[in-house]
Amino acid sequence: MLSKTINKSKKVLALMLALIFIAGTFTISVYALTDAEKQEYEQKIEDIKAQIEENKKKIEELDAEASQYDGTVSSLQEKIDVLQDQIDLYNQEIAIIDEDINKIDTQINSIETEIDNLNEQVKQLDEQVKQLEKEKAKTYELLGERIRASYMSGASTPLEYLLTSDDFEFQAYLERVELLQRIAEHDDKIVKELEKSIEDIAVKLTEIEDVKTRLAAKITELDEAKKEYEAKKQEQVDARQVVQDAEDEIQADLNKVMSIVNGLDAQSQEYQAAIDKREEAILELENKLSEKNVYYGSGSAGDMCWPLPYSDVYVSSRFKFRWGKQHNGIDTCRWSGTEGADVVSVKDGTIEVANWGWGGGYGNYVVVNHGDGVLTYYAHLSNITVSPGQSVKQGQVIGQAGNTGYSFGAHLHFGLMINGSWVDPLKYLDGGSTIQCTDSL
Ligand SMILES: [Zn+2]
Repeated sequence: MLSKTINKSKKVLALMLALIFIAGTFTISVYALTDAEKQEYEQKIEDIKAQIEENKKKIEELDAEASQYDGTVSSLQEKIDVLQDQIDLYNQEIAIIDEDINKIDTQINSIETEIDNLNEQVKQLDEQVKQLEKEKAKTYELLGERIRASYMSGASTPLEYLLTSDDFEFQAYLERVELLQRIAEHDDKIVKELEKSIEDIAVKLTEIEDVKTRLAAKITELDEAKKEYEAKKQEQVDARQVVQDAEDEIQADLNKVMSIVNGLDAQSQEYQAAIDKREEAILELENKLSEKNVYYGSGSAGDMCWPLPYSDVYVSSRFKFRWGKQHNGIDTCRWSGTEGADVVSVKDGTIEVANWGWGGGYGNYVVVNHGDGVLTYYAHLSNITVSPGQSVKQGQVIGQAGNTGYSFGAHLHFGLMINGSWVDPLKYLDGGSTIQCTDSL
């Protein structure tokens, strides 16, 4: 009998240990800070905030230093602008002169073409003269040959003919002399004509030479004009160079100032990056600090809204081993008072139970069946506004919170059962961003 009792006690102890173990596993995702840790984090946040202030001061100093150069930068830039305007004017002037020079070059080219044409004409005329001289020489040659032939064909002189006293031969002689004279006259005429042609060509050549001389004079004139324009251009180029040198000098000064300003900006950006990192660190520490009181609903069962549809809700008691037994749900309240607050179904479903009375300590309570083995319990209600079998939508009011049953103050006890087992509702409810818990695990 005694051993049986001991055995029974052992079994109870084992069950209790198992329950503690189960309750323990639910606490894994929640980290509670000790006061020392909390103080440490708060001190760290203060330190980082002080560093950020220092960084901000540095940035202000750097910005102030950089802004000292604003005046210098704008005055140097203005000077550069003025000089650049001057350079632009010189460039315009030079472009106009270049156009004039191009026009002169075009004129010179066309005159040179003309001279080339004339030289070609001269060449042709020279060829003609040569030809005519050749003809003239040939005519003389023919005449000489004829005269020689007539002498060689018989008595060569009138005296010889007179001495022969032969009338017939003398007559023939006279006829030949006459013929020779006529031939000579004819040849002479040809030669004269040839000489006339040669003279004509010579006149033409002289005319062409005159034209060439005039054209050459024109080219000289144009060359001189071109030289004048080039001198003018050089003047402009030289003047432009003076301005360009001045601009380069000022640009170099401006570059120096800008490199200082850019260096200051870079430093300022580094400090800003440090501030950003430190602000992130503060956020992280603040998150750690808030973790003590804040539980992030994972919503892994999906789509469950908070059963008290208010922004000022909190959890006064968690799903945990409490008062020698498992607290099979959470107790949730409103900071502004829970009595009479609306209670809503966390998901679409059908009313399974709408119980009025003691309810085994639950008081007035409602059970909603959401299908797929999911049931939700709403207990200690002051009022129930639904009846069994009724379909409800998510967020639909099913009653009002109260203090009925085994309860010591108005609160909503909310239980979640999945496939016959109680589970921690905080792992499934969507409490918006965060829900405060006044009760630690
Ligand atoms: Zn409870």
